[in-house]
Amino acid sequence: MSDTRDDLFAAVREMDRRGLVSRSSGNASVRLDPVEGAERYLITPAFLPYSQMEPSDLVEIDGDIDPVDGEGIPSTESALHVALYRSRPDAGAVVHTHSLYSSAAAASGRRIPPIVDEMVLYLGGAVEVARYGFPGSEELAAAAVEAIGDRRAVLLRNHGMCAVGGTIREALDAAVLVERVAQIHALAEIGGGAAILPAEAIEAERAAYLMRYLPDSR
Ligand SMILES: [Zn+2]
Repeated sequence: MSDTRDDLFAAVREMDRRGLVSRSSGNASVRLDPVEGAERYLITPAFLPYSQMEPSDLVEIDGDIDPVDGEGIPSTESALHVALYRSRPDAGAVVHTHSLYSSAAAASGRRIPPIVDEMVLYLGGAVEVARYGFPGSEELAAAAVEAIGDRRAVLLRNHGMCAVGGTIREALDAAVLVERVAQIHALAEIGGGAAILPAEAIEAERAAYLMRYLPDSR
């Protein structure tokens, strides 16, 4: 069963409360059950500050990013969300944030290597950096799809980060974890350099990640 409007709204509120987004930056969506075989998604509206948002402001769209009903304007990053859903059948939700440390890592253009166990267990490994794409463009969407691979998070160069999950809870947890590991990486680099996990640990944790989240890929 897919997440509901209330689930998405609660997650959006939490994104705002945790400081992962500011004013109307960033966005989130969930995959809804298809209608007569056609894709349906529920996504945050464009330009509306989170503090003013109500559950009814979330916009239901089809695969062409056209609103299915109502007059809401879907997020300007809707193409990014739809591209991730199409490339990742396991994704039931997408979260895109401009959180501070993740955005700083994205601005540096440097990936976050696997430096803590949780990264491999819950994100699938390193957080790679997608090549630059103009906000809202198909190029940005394609770059994110390419860079995220089978993992759960990716940095968008000079922009922010994006995470996917089976549910909106999982996608939000992944976004929070990326922000935390971006902080850890930055501090470790200041403190003399971050050390990458032992190869055997990465291998075992990757296997656990795939078994848990992508059992069909094995
Ligand atoms: Zn953005």
